[in-house]
Amino acid sequence: AAKNSGGDRFQYFTPSMQKSAVSRMALINDLRTALAENQFKLYYQPIVNLMSGAIHKSEALIRWQHPERGLIGPIEFIPIAEETKLIVDIGDWVFHEASRQAVRWRSSFQPNFQISINTSPVQYKSDNFNARDWLEHLHVMKLPGDAITVEITEGTLMESRASIDQVLFDFRDANIQVSIDDFGTGYSSLSSLKKLDIDYIKIDKSFVDGIAPNSNDLALCEAVIVMAHKLDLKVIAEGIETENQKRLLIAAGCDFGQGYLFSKPLPAMEFEKLLNI
Ligand code: C2E
Ligand code: MG
Ligand code: MG
Ligand code: MG
Repeated sequence: AAKNSGGDRFQYFTPSMQKSAVSRMALINDLRTALAENQFKLYYQPIVNLMSGAIHKSEALIRWQHPERGLIGPIEFIPIAEETKLIVDIGDWVFHEASRQAVRWRSSFQPNFQISINTSPVQYKSDNFNARDWLEHLHVMKLPGDAITVEITEGTLMESRASIDQVLFDFRDANIQVSIDDFGTGYSSLSSLKKLDIDYIKIDKSFVDGIAPNSNDLALCEAVIVMAHKLDLKVIAEGIETENQKRLLIAAGCDFGQGYLFSKPLPAMEFEKLLNI
């Protein structure tokens, strides 16, 4: 009976399982100190106007500069940050850091420059999250709401509509723009998109990867673009790596693009070179 809950639980792990459980615990411990020790960094990737090539806005993507393990990507720690709810504090840090950067780039580059941040539904479900705190912070920073765009993935948005609805309403009220990230990988209905009152749809990279003349993926992208435009939404294609993908997306009427063809995510100082600051 003690097998499932008692102190002898470890003996049921094989050596490799034990190692992974131990390294998981180490990762959680390190995550707890990462914020206090200022180990997170935001990288920035341009979102470009496909027709003109001009930089439209920039997406902030988090990285963790771990003292021993080097630079760690979000795929490796966001899931654990969500499980442990550390994502709430990390998400606040991302918002504050992106706001700080927006103030700088608005004064040195373009007065209406915008930054997109990624958010997790776990943040919005937490009792410790309050959209009012974010709006208050924008006010203190003298930033209008549309300096920040909030990205929410399609799948998680649909899973947690009830808890997110009020947050989306508060964002809308403050003129913060909202993007549906990884579009095509979840199960949103057309009517839910219409009700949500969002600004952008980001077509997931998995569809952009398969774009070729007469391909199913191109047909899907075309359909999404037509639908989005009918709903008055702008479309961003994610993960554009080739001129060919770019050309076909422009022909399909896609508004904006993001991907290695234009630039990888860069530290703020290097991103500034793209802005010619
Ligand atoms: P995402 O929001 O869909 O971000 C796009 C991902 O695709 C980024 O990976 C970006 O580096 C990568 N990417 C962009 N263009 C290309 C391309 O042309 N080719 C390829 N192969 N990849 C490309 P990254 O930075 O590893 O982020 C992965 C995911 O982690 C993000 O997907 C987002 O869901 C999540 N994430 C990143 N930063 C944050 C954050 O601050 N908070 C939260 N909650 N999640 C974050
Ligand atoms: Mg994103
Ligand atoms: Mg995405
Ligand atoms: Mg993604």
